[in-house]
Amino acid sequence: MEKRILISDIKNHIGETITINGFVDLRRDHGKIVFIDLRDRSAKVQIVVSERNTDAYGVLSGVKPEWVLSVTGVIKKRGEKTINPNVFNGDLEMEATSGEIFQMAEELPFEKEQEITLETYLNYLPLTLRTDRARAIFRIQARITDAFGGFLRENGFTEIQVPKIIGEDAEGGANVFNLDYFGHIAHLAQSPQFYKQIMVGVFERVFCAGNVYRAEPHSTTRHLNEYTSLDFEMGFIKSHEDIMEMETRMMEYIMADLKKNCAEDFKTLNAVLPDVPEKIPAMKLREIQELIKKETGEDCCNAPDLEPKHERWLYDYALKNFGSEFIFVTHFPISKRPMYTYEDENDPGYAKGFDLLFRGIEITTGGQRIHDYNKLVESMEKKGLDPKKFSYYLQAFKYGMPPHGGLGLGLERLTAKLVGVENIREATLFPRDMHRIDTLLSEEKKEKKD
Ligand code: ATP
Ligand code: MG
Repeated sequence: MEKRILISDIKNHIGETITINGFVDLRRDHGKIVFIDLRDRSAKVQIVVSERNTDAYGVLSGVKPEWVLSVTGVIKKRGEKTINPNVFNGDLEMEATSGEIFQMAEELPFEKEQEITLETYLNYLPLTLRTDRARAIFRIQARITDAFGGFLRENGFTEIQVPKIIGEDAEGGANVFNLDYFGHIAHLAQSPQFYKQIMVGVFERVFCAGNVYRAEPHSTTRHLNEYTSLDFEMGFIKSHEDIMEMETRMMEYIMADLKKNCAEDFKTLNAVLPDVPEKIPAMKLREIQELIKKETGEDCCNAPDLEPKHERWLYDYALKNFGSEFIFVTHFPISKRPMYTYEDENDPGYAKGFDLLFRGIEITTGGQRIHDYNKLVESMEKKGLDPKKFSYYLQAFKYGMPPHGGLGLGLERLTAKLVGVENIREATLFPRDMHRIDTLLSEEKKEKKD
């Protein structure tokens, strides 16, 4: 068998007869000549199948989109007039001399690069994920997780795997999925919070990337019921500002990595990478609320969080006044934050914590955590939680914990904002929402659940 060459490498084989494998991306007919754009994992190239190459023509002249092929042929420079400078390999083509069909495909329900509704896109994901656009989005997403791990490893963090089945609801809140666990009720983890904190006592600095589950019964363009949380947690911090600094450097690292490795994908998507400022601007929630009142007349001063429209307003404000697409919002009221939240001794009632907003949406929540056993127990009691239920987690604090903190970053939200898609579902390979687990949940099933 001929050795397979990747399409990205064919420029090193001009004049040679080589074999490539891939999928038919597009087929065009020009008189008796068939043009095939063949796609493999690395790139695409145009293949010319002409009648005079009888072996090739016999096998390949009937191919249709998404058929899976092996083609052998000669790599040639294209004639001056047929060069396409806008695409990779636009100056090359393969003249097929023989071919083999590995697998035929059914007629596609629509042309692959055709504009379709999100609904149709989601119904046909095994096919629609094969588009240039989707492949660009998810290559970028893969690089984000890679760079996330790369940066943290370089900074002394150890990667950990944490359970997704848990006995107690980590945040002590609503929106948790229940699970029948051998006759007991277990839950799907809403975050890796407890485990990454426990692991600070082991490794000081840890990170994990994994799925988390939120039974949020609303349908928005920024919520999923299963999403990927990029988390880190670190010990020996002075305050939440150390976490903000670490996240700033991490964003810088991720953006530099994307610039280096995904330039073509950003071009495909017509998307622009942000600059990460040396210091991302930070404002207290109350300051922002005052500002919103002053500038727009809208009074949101006692709200515990910013509404989506205020997050968008803040984006415009930060871009105009600080030239930054990122902004930290700090000091949320402690009453609305989880029981492990550290209160700012210089600003009682408010948390040593932050959200990071990017292009008008919250992508991260982070902060310092309570590390003192007695304070943590007290905080649980204040929130009406029974410390006995958390005795397992509390051991970490009983046996000594350093001042620490960390964050959780929503991978799909970051991806969506980076690549410029409106709906988070487009930045999620197989989104789960209230109405869909791969296929739409039927009306009948929905009623039964209620
Ligand atoms: P929001 O207020 O926007 O609903 P949250 O404050 O409830 O989010 P956190 O618990 O702070 O969310 O989660 C940390 C990060 O995880 C968020 O900043 C966001 O990037 C992401 N995230 C949270 N919930 C979802 C969700 N349902 N779908 C997708 N990403 C989410
Ligand atoms: Mg949050």
